[in-house]
Amino acid sequence: MALKLFNTLTRKKETFKPLKDRQVKLYTCGPTVYDYAHIGNMRAYVWEDLLRRVLEFNKFKVTHVMNITDVGHLTSDQDTGEDKMEVGAKREHKSAWEIAEFYTKEFIKDIEKLHILKPHIAPKATDHIQEQIELIKILEKKGHTYIISDGVYFDTSKLKDYGKLARLNVEGLKAGARVEMAEGKRNPTDFALWKFSPKDQHRQMEWGSPWGTGFPGWHIECSAMSMKYLGTTFDIHTGGVDHIPVHHTNEIAQSEAATGKKFVNYWLHCNHLIVDGEKMSKSLGNFYRLKDITDRNYKPIHLRYFYTNSNYRSQLNFTFKGLDSAKKTVEGLFDFVRKLKDIQGNKDNPKVSALIKKFRKQFLVGIDDDLNFPKALASMFDFIRTANKLIAQNKISRKNAETIIKLMIEVDNILGLGFIDLIEEKREMPKEVLDLIRKRESARKLGDFATADDIRNEIRDRFNIVIEDTKDGLKWRFA
Ligand code: AMP
Ligand code: ZN
Repeated sequence: MALKLFNTLTRKKETFKPLKDRQVKLYTCGPTVYDYAHIGNMRAYVWEDLLRRVLEFNKFKVTHVMNITDVGHLTSDQDTGEDKMEVGAKREHKSAWEIAEFYTKEFIKDIEKLHILKPHIAPKATDHIQEQIELIKILEKKGHTYIISDGVYFDTSKLKDYGKLARLNVEGLKAGARVEMAEGKRNPTDFALWKFSPKDQHRQMEWGSPWGTGFPGWHIECSAMSMKYLGTTFDIHTGGVDHIPVHHTNEIAQSEAATGKKFVNYWLHCNHLIVDGEKMSKSLGNFYRLKDITDRNYKPIHLRYFYTNSNYRSQLNFTFKGLDSAKKTVEGLFDFVRKLKDIQGNKDNPKVSALIKKFRKQFLVGIDDDLNFPKALASMFDFIRTANKLIAQNKISRKNAETIIKLMIEVDNILGLGFIDLIEEKREMPKEVLDLIRKRESARKLGDFATADDIRNEIRDRFNIVIEDTKDGLKWRFA
């Protein structure tokens, strides 16, 4: 079995092969921390988390970098409009720095609630201004830049393959160029590498540079930070589909122009979440963040599952009805695991291991097929249906149940729903075992150690519970 991933660059599902051994360098475009992340953004982050977990399940060693955009992302992707950080600052009468700090913390809290694994490195754009300046200097030296009144721009006409990721029709774009293009920009696709602070005002976030005081363009931060932490060519870069035509296209242009090397081997993109069939927007009143969901009595893992059971390359329509059904399914899964914990039978069913093997294989086939979770989850429910039947007929032993629990934990390492916490909940000792322990104590008091040992073995074989006599008294645990 080999992991296959859909590469936006080639528009093909490809067998994934990292550059070096089984090491994977993964870069994810992170949040712009001027406001709370919404449930659309969270779809992208949960999907990226699932990708990382699938890679790890396939025994790849992943280095995951997710940037924090805390400067330079303007309200328009065309290098015009206000810096989103300053928009946030005005809205809340705080400094842009305070806004960045507050929403970065809120973002981290939200992703933790959704069981998204923390990236290994989460670099901030404002901590990497020098790296961005150095990259622009290289581009300038190689003749890829020009300066106009509002900043230093990248000349996209110098590249033969500009727009290859999005398959942009550059000539068509020129013909249809919009009038609001910054004055002096040579081509509509050219983009800012460094923007100058307005002459008549101080920005809250600005730095000196060889070209004048200002701040970096949005795209340059991702090139500078990804290459700093992952190398000039790395394995996987991800983001939402909205990033294909501008942000990722420009990251490729400037990185490859600077290094002369291929920037990224696999580009993966997650399609958007819409709500009730429409684009999410504050004016439509269909704009939700995680707190809006938990305030309505859903757990973050219900939302996580809702995202998981979808094809990431298709739009996903969020409805509360859909979330209700996700909630029911997740609670059903937890009930299944709880039920397994309570099984006490001692007659092993030889069919169980074959069932497990079949399910494990089908699950893997699903996730390795470009993260086809709907397929993988369908195989899980087939398995659970069969297991439930056996449980109802008392045809599963404690030992069988333990192996199924082990399997569910393994599956949950990918799903990230948290079965493991359930397994580790304090479990009560069955009453029958308590009676046996009492009997064993009496035997020991009478010096009948043979009977005491027999009882200990019986407890172990029938209930999978290990009894130990310690100086602090009797201790027990599930084997
Ligand atoms: P931003 O903070 O706007 O840069 O977006 C953060 C991430 O969320 C990016 O990967 C975007 O492509 C992604 N994104 C934005 N809106 C949506 C949406 N409605 N559905 C899914 N992903 C989205
Ligand atoms: Zn980015």
